[in-house]
Amino acid sequence: MNPTRPSAANAAAGSVETAKPRPKAKPKGKRKRTKANPSIAWARRLARSRPRLLDDTLDALTGIYGPQVWRRRLDPTSELILTILTQNSADINAEKAFVALRAAYPSTGVVEVHEPGAGWGGEGLPPGAAPEWDAVETAPLAELIDVIRPGGLGPTKAPRLQATLRRIREERGDHSLEFLGDMAPIAARDWLASIPGIGKKTASVLLLFCFEQPLMPVDRHVERVAKRIGLLAAKAPPDRAHDDFLAMLAAVPERTYETHVLLIHHGRAICQALRPKHELCPIRERCRFVDPKAP
Ligand code: SF4
Repeated sequence: MNPTRPSAANAAAGSVETAKPRPKAKPKGKRKRTKANPSIAWARRLARSRPRLLDDTLDALTGIYGPQVWRRRLDPTSELILTILTQNSADINAEKAFVALRAAYPSTGVVEVHEPGAGWGGEGLPPGAAPEWDAVETAPLAELIDVIRPGGLGPTKAPRLQATLRRIREERGDHSLEFLGDMAPIAARDWLASIPGIGKKTASVLLLFCFEQPLMPVDRHVERVAKRIGLLAAKAPPDRAHDDFLAMLAAVPERTYETHVLLIHHGRAICQALRPKHELCPIRERCRFVDPKAP
């Protein structure tokens, strides 16, 4: 276009060549799309492509292991310390370490009866009061390592126990964790997971078992069974598995406890890592491990 001549548009508008060129219209802003939550997307896809998979799994497992009813099994501080003792150790060894803590640092607290129920790999603690947490926190480190040695990994876990107890006391003034029952589940999980050495799994165990908060601890048994059946994607990163279950259970949060207990129990009893007993499994018709095209 000749810059000395008015353009048709300008002429029509009665404007002249000297008019300032209009600033370029900004390209219409692309609407920012919020990134889809991958766990919610997964749960929706699963519900669409394999309807009732979680319900059928729970119904089938309830058929062989019986209904699972939530019941608090320990006070929350004891639950947390026992759960830390189970990290990379067998439950039965963690029990030995906890019993040793009680004996070395006795308290006059309430006697607790530990009935862990299905899914727990130990025998259950004998009745007893929680250890004196102040004494555990301030014990000489070498002594504490020695006390919990029967549980395994004493040199790693003793400083972790003391750091955890110190953090709780510094933030709350004592070692009680009862306040977590009044918090929203995710906020409570975040509070716990901000303590070094405590991840989503440990935090979720405490909150589910002590307060029946709908948070799903995913340990190696739960993860293996869920991935085999197809409840979790085979390549789902371990850290996302917790949130995938939250999304799957969003409509039925009251089933979180039985989901955790039934899957963990199935992983121990029938769907073991080596040589799973498919022939005894009530969910094999829907299991992608035995049939990659299972409905
Ligand atoms: S069919 Fe086999 S692999 Fe699948 S859940 Fe049952 S025991 Fe595990």
